[in-house]
Amino acid sequence: MHADDTVRDLLAFLDAAPTPYHAVAETARRLEAMGYTRFDESESWSLGTGTKGYVVRHEGSIVAFSMGQGEPADTGMRMIGAHTDSPTLHLKPHMTREAHGARQLLIEPYGGLLHYTWFDRDLGVAGRIRLADGRMVLVDIARPLLRVPSLAIHLNREVYESGFKPNAQQHMHPLLSVEDGPSWEEVLDEALSPHGATHAEVLAHDLVLYDVTGAALGGAGDAFVLSGRLDNLASCHAAIRALQSAAENPLPQRVTQVVALWDHEEVGSRSASGAAGAFLKDVITRIAGTGEGMRRALSRSLMVSSDMAHGVHPNYPERHDGDHMPRLGRGPVIKWNVNQSYASDAESGAQFVEACRDAGITPQNYNHRNDMRCGSTIGPWAAAGLGIRTVDVGNPMLSMHSCREMCAASDHEPMIRALAAHLGRA
Ligand SMILES: [Zn+2]
Repeated sequence: MHADDTVRDLLAFLDAAPTPYHAVAETARRLEAMGYTRFDESESWSLGTGTKGYVVRHEGSIVAFSMGQGEPADTGMRMIGAHTDSPTLHLKPHMTREAHGARQLLIEPYGGLLHYTWFDRDLGVAGRIRLADGRMVLVDIARPLLRVPSLAIHLNREVYESGFKPNAQQHMHPLLSVEDGPSWEEVLDEALSPHGATHAEVLAHDLVLYDVTGAALGGAGDAFVLSGRLDNLASCHAAIRALQSAAENPLPQRVTQVVALWDHEEVGSRSASGAAGAFLKDVITRIAGTGEGMRRALSRSLMVSSDMAHGVHPNYPERHDGDHMPRLGRGPVIKWNVNQSYASDAESGAQFVEACRDAGITPQNYNHRNDMRCGSTIGPWAAAGLGIRTVDVGNPMLSMHSCREMCAASDHEPMIRALAAHLGRA
C-alpha cells in the first residue's frame, strides 16, 4: 500500500473508533479480514503452529497473536503494545438534569484531559450499553448532539489576567436541548433502535463524548494528521498494520508475534483489562505454557511499547531538553527515562535501533527535562508484569490530550515499517 493510502486508512480507523470499545471492534474486524480467529477466554483453546487468533477482554482491550513455527521457549516472542483509550468526558451514572431552561448531561472527566479544548466543540456520544436481555451493544451518535459552551468574555473579563481555569464539577456539563426539546431518553431510543431496544432496557452504560469533526489531513501539502485520539489510536493502527505487513514476508515465520492493545492507560493501567493487569500474561500462558517454557520464552522476547511522543513545539521549545527535541516529520522516537517512567534500556533500545535500521529509518531520542516530572506509559507496566525486555517508542505529536490533536502524516508509514521489522526479526 502507498504511504498516502496508509495515512488515509489511519483516518478511517480514527473515525471508526470514538471509544476504546469501538477501537477494539474495528481492530477485530480488521484482524478477521487478515485471517485471524476470535478466541473466547471462557472456552478451552486448541492452538498450534500457524494459529492466528485474537482475544478481547471487557470490550476495551484486545490481544492478537500469530504463532510461528518455532517453540516460543526456543525463539522468544516479538510483541507490540499500545493503548486504546484517550482522555475524554464520561457520562455520570445519573446523567441528566434541567437547569435554567436547558437540558444537560452530567460528565466526569476521564484521564488527564486539556479541559479547555472541550469547550465550543460539536460533540457526539458513543460507548457501550448493557441491556436487560444480557447483550452488550455499542452505540455511536455521530452528530453534534452536545456542546459545552464557553462563558462570554463580557462575563469573564478576568480570563486575560488569571487564565482559563474551568471547574470540572461546575463548568463542563454539556447542553443537550432546550426546556421543551427532546429528552435524553428519546435520543437513547434512536441510538438503540438498530439493536431493537429502547432506553427502558438499559441497565448500565459507559458513554463518552467525542468531537464529531472527522479525522483530516491539513497543513500545506497535507503535512499533518488532525484528529481526536491520535494518542494512542495512531499506534494501535500502526501495530495492526505492522502485523499485516509482517505476514506478507515470503519467508516462513519462525517467531510468534503478539500485539496487545490495552484500555485504561490514561488512568494508570491498573484494571482487569489494563496493562498493569494480567490480560497479556493470561494469553501468553495459553500460547507458551506455564513454568519453565513460559519463562524461557519471556526471557528471549522483546516488547515494543508504542505510545505517542512529545514532538518539540516551535512556540514552546524551552519545555524540552535542548538536546532531545524530537521533530514532527523525522519519524519514530525512542523514549528514555532512567527513573523507569519509560522501560527502554541499552539492550531493548539497541534492538529497536536495529529494527529501524532494517527498515531504513534513523530513530529520534526523547528524554524529559530534569526539572519537570515525566509522564509514563504502558511499557513499564508490561515490563514489570512479565519481566520482559521492553522499549518505549512513539511518533512525535503536538496537542497531546487535546480534544483534537496533531502529528505529521509522513511519520506514520515509517513507524509501521519499524514495527513490522521488529515483528519479523528472528
Ligand atoms: Zn498515550
